[in-house]
Amino acid sequence: MTSRIAVLPVTVLVALLVTACGSPEPDPVDPAERGPSVVRPLADGSPDIPGRPPRGGDPSVDRLDPDLLAAVKAAMRDARADGVAMTITSGWRSRAHQQRLFDEAVAEYGSESEASRWVAPPDSSAHVTGDAVDIGPKEADAWLVEHGAAYGLCQIFANEAWHFELATTPGGVCPDLLPDGSYRR
Ligand SMILES: [Zn+2]
Repeated sequence: MTSRIAVLPVTVLVALLVTACGSPEPDPVDPAERGPSVVRPLADGSPDIPGRPPRGGDPSVDRLDPDLLAAVKAAMRDARADGVAMTITSGWRSRAHQQRLFDEAVAEYGSESEASRWVAPPDSSAHVTGDAVDIGPKEADAWLVEHGAAYGLCQIFANEAWHFELATTPGGVCPDLLPDGSYRR
């Protein structure tokens, strides 16, 4: 009796091992094959960008200039090949959303002129027209500052290393940086 009881757990264990080896879990998807990274929402409420081509579910991506979006996706693929994960942290924004961001910046910085160094009002924001993306994380920003011109993507403002626009032809030269967003108006 005692020996049978002792043997049983071993048998069960062996059976479990055989089962585990015989039917392994499906391999996880290779990250390199997932396409552009999924972006997490920011505190500003910007929604995610899907990991696959958008199908009308995400206005912050769908309403981007198609050429800009294509350039960013190409850069994402090449950055990933360099081991750099790249995400769009903010894309198109509604006027109302941009106004809200600007109002918050005015409250934070104390004046419209100071706020506009960091957040553009709706009339001058390239996000509102779908002509700008914010990119993250910092490693991806650095990658895109270095390589973006190959895709026509340029940093525009010296104080916003995360903000990119199509500002040259692919392989061209990016324009000189503006000190901050207030110089655009
Ligand atoms: Zn931006």
